[in-house]
Amino acid sequence: MLHASRRWRSERRSIGLVPTMGALHAGHLSLVELARRENDVVVVSVFVNPIQFGPGEDFARYPRDPDRDARLLGEGEVDAIYEPRTELMYPPGASTRVHVGGIAEPLEGKARPGHFEGVATVVTKLLAAVEPDRAYFGQKDAQQVAVVKRLVRDLDLGVEIRVGPIVREEDGLALSSRNVYLDPAERKAAASLSDALRDAARAYAAGERDPVRLRAVLVARLRAEPLADLEYAELVDAATFEKPGTLAVIAARIGKTRLIDNHDLSIPLPG
Ligand code: AMP
Repeated sequence: MLHASRRWRSERRSIGLVPTMGALHAGHLSLVELARRENDVVVVSVFVNPIQFGPGEDFARYPRDPDRDARLLGEGEVDAIYEPRTELMYPPGASTRVHVGGIAEPLEGKARPGHFEGVATVVTKLLAAVEPDRAYFGQKDAQQVAVVKRLVRDLDLGVEIRVGPIVREEDGLALSSRNVYLDPAERKAAASLSDALRDAARAYAAGERDPVRLRAVLVARLRAEPLADLEYAELVDAATFEKPGTLAVIAARIGKTRLIDNHDLSIPLPG
């Protein structure tokens, strides 16, 4: 990968990297399109990173379909699919981990101990292998965006982090590789996350600014859905992830499936 990338660089071609865990959907493809518009060369990495999954999480059953992924990326659309084997990423004895701290600690960091250390480590390795000018992340994983920006700043990694908007289904559900876990009843119930964000954005538009009351709007909508089990709902600052702010972030379980979503309440959510 590094060899190919250094050749492109010697030809003065700019490189965009889109890191993914495969099981691609329109959310991933929107990042690929954005990268295509902004770079001469586009690399998509497909790697289900074992160290960002906790014990008891879905690493073993995470959806994998490399042939379908390759088809979706299409010939000519991307210049390379970087799909390293797990043994290559983490050979025996590999013990280094990138710990971001601070911003990586609340919310997802608290709910999934070790998750952001796994993310920061693999992102550092992917950046080292591809040496991109720009790397593309989805707003869907808002805290991941904040963690990666902090990582790049703190370690002087010199890559530009670009963020693409959340791609949603018609009923508002944010696209996610994990949505395939949902049975039909759960799939319907899963819209309660974006419904809650929409309700709170409406309250904000109507003049509500009290974070306690805005949070109550989120919680009420999620509690009204019997299949939803709320893990957290908070209003945070999008850059620091400190309270309060206008970024509403939610995590909830629908059956066994853990889903996250977020929305900046100062912007209406259509639907
Ligand atoms: P994943 O394969 O889930 O690790 O996601 C790879 C990248 O795609 C991450 O930067 C995600 O934030 C982004 N992504 C996932 N779902 C969406 C979505 N619905 N809209 C936009 N980007 C997304």
